[in-house]
Amino acid sequence: MKLSSKRIDLKLRHTFRISRGAEDVVPVVITTVEHAGVRGYGEASPSSRYGETIDTVLDFLKRVDLRGFSEPFELEEISEFLDNIAPGNAAAKTAVDIALHDWVGRKLGQPLYKLWGLSKSKTPLTSFTIGIDSPEVISKKIAEAEEYPILKIKLGTDHDTEIMAVVRKVTKKPLRVDANEGWKTKELALERIKWLEQEGVEFIEQPMSDGDLAGCAWLRERVNLPLIADENCVRLHDVPGLSKAFDGVNIKLMKCGGLREALRMIHTAKALGMKIMLGCMIESSVAITAAAHLSPLVDYADLDGNLLISNDPFEGVKVKEGKLILSDEPGLGVEPRD
Ligand code: MG
Repeated sequence: MKLSSKRIDLKLRHTFRISRGAEDVVPVVITTVEHAGVRGYGEASPSSRYGETIDTVLDFLKRVDLRGFSEPFELEEISEFLDNIAPGNAAAKTAVDIALHDWVGRKLGQPLYKLWGLSKSKTPLTSFTIGIDSPEVISKKIAEAEEYPILKIKLGTDHDTEIMAVVRKVTKKPLRVDANEGWKTKELALERIKWLEQEGVEFIEQPMSDGDLAGCAWLRERVNLPLIADENCVRLHDVPGLSKAFDGVNIKLMKCGGLREALRMIHTAKALGMKIMLGCMIESSVAITAAAHLSPLVDYADLDGNLLISNDPFEGVKVKEGKLILSDEPGLGVEPRD
């Protein structure tokens, strides 16, 4: 079993700004696993919020020696092996996990969603994210996002009211709001959410810092919109402790370490009666398509990372009027563009 990796710089169509920073280029690592004449693709999109950089990913992948395993079907054992190399490093682990799953699907000649017993007609609509920007750019981005029926608006700034005024001036679409931990006190978060309840918002993602679970539980008692944990929800072991403070969880492959852990999180959250959202980082069609195969299991999808870039090196899942469209090709169903 041979694992190789290559850095690719994804270029953003617009500068992507959220409450804690901005970026124009996002470096990712594309991995390939080759075994018995079959190749599977994977991807890591590291986030400094979770302690990873392009260098930590490449360093981690150098330490992944799969020669001790006889074939990529040994997914459980390989994922345990990855966790034993070092804690964290979720995006690097995801790059291996996705490539192994792609390999398995290609080897068996079936798309991943079928191997999990899912129906591709059940994929949800994905939201399209509008980052923090000037009024002119926000209007332009919303116009460009015309075909997407649900928008996700990044707030958590000191000019949230101005941003929402611009958004509501140009669109009546349902909105989801992501504060990215930006509201610094529970009183401020309460005030903002009470106001957003009147603005056609479906839910609020991560209103406050991940360190303020008690504040979030206080908030949940006082608001009518569902609260979804993102920065608070990294891996499986986080999920049970969130059910008092949040109504749902935003699961991302790059936070949790891959498709197997994401599946465990989905079922755990379901058992706790929580809503499930599947999100992403800025990623190419490799990782977005991987998540899309799980999407028939979730309530909300925010799988737009590949739609925000101008040089996607792969083709994979399509989006039609917001709906995620999976192909019947084996594995992920992704292919390099050249
Ligand atoms: Mg978020």
